[in-house]
Amino acid sequence: MLSPIRLISEAAELAARRHNGMARKGRGNEPYINHLAEVANLLATATDGADAELVAAGWLHDTIEDTDTTREELARRFSERVASLVAECTDDMSLPKAMRRQKQIEDAPHKSPGAKLIKIADKISNTGARIQTDPTSEERDDLADYIDWATQVVAGCRGSNAWLDEKFDDAVKAAKAVL
Ligand code: ZN
Repeated sequence: MLSPIRLISEAAELAARRHNGMARKGRGNEPYINHLAEVANLLATATDGADAELVAAGWLHDTIEDTDTTREELARRFSERVASLVAECTDDMSLPKAMRRQKQIEDAPHKSPGAKLIKIADKISNTGARIQTDPTSEERDDLADYIDWATQVVAGCRGSNAWLDEKFDDAVKAAKAVL
């Protein structure tokens, strides 16, 4: 097992490599790595640095879904828990988007405690990225639709980390202010 600092450092490097060239949705087409850094940092702050595997999984949470990374590779390079946290946050991309979204709402309450925290951090980051200073009507619809869905997913995840729950509520409040 890697030391905590190496675990997180290796995770950040692999994530940067695998998501290289990808842009995130929303505000200014930021590099995808900005989203991963934000999620990992939210998790580190929420747990006050007590859970290195959780922070590593935050860096890696989209690698199985969006890149050719496999669960087995993550288990081999990091740990079984890191691999399983990422797998828990991976949608079945063979399903249509509406079904994937519905499944996230239904599955959320049954996730492990760590996966629930990753999902909340992910929704905080994605909500923030969709808040534009001067949104088009399309961006506004996308944001309204996103926060409506994200609130339902987070409802099944919240209750174990008050700070993260509050961050999500703040993000929704900020989003509603521009709608
Ligand atoms: Zn994500």
